[in-house]
Amino acid sequence: MKKNDIILAAAIFLFAGLLSAIIFFSGNERGSFVTVTIDKKVYGTYSLGENQDITIDTEFGHNVLHIENGSVSMTEADCPDGYCKRQGKISTEKETIVCLPHKLVVEIRGTNTDDGQTEEQTDGQTDEDYDILVK
Ligand SMILES: [Zn+2]
Repeated sequence: MKKNDIILAAAIFLFAGLLSAIIFFSGNERGSFVTVTIDKKVYGTYSLGENQDITIDTEFGHNVLHIENGSVSMTEADCPDGYCKRQGKISTEKETIVCLPHKLVVEIRGTNTDDGQTEEQTDGQTDEDYDILVK
């Protein structure tokens, strides 16, 4: 085996390792961010790794989102139906809490949140959610 062959083999091995790491992490069921969308616009993205309360006050109403140990729940809401509070905790990617009277959608996102492609997907997903709920 020539020296170049060894380098090539090592490169392929490293690349394969990296690829399986990417597949492993993207296939991980546990999401790591939560995106809050209001009236189909992104209001904010928050880390699930950090225990926190997020107060959301908009023209539509008041909500408080609670993040604890990687789970998200709606702890406060002044909407008339209070349905969002009864949706319980979410912690898995693509799970959502919806407060329809406040046009608010909370969605768990995966690790790759910082590229433009995901942004487009967020919008598509939200529209779809609304359509399903309105019907
Ligand atoms: Zn609500």
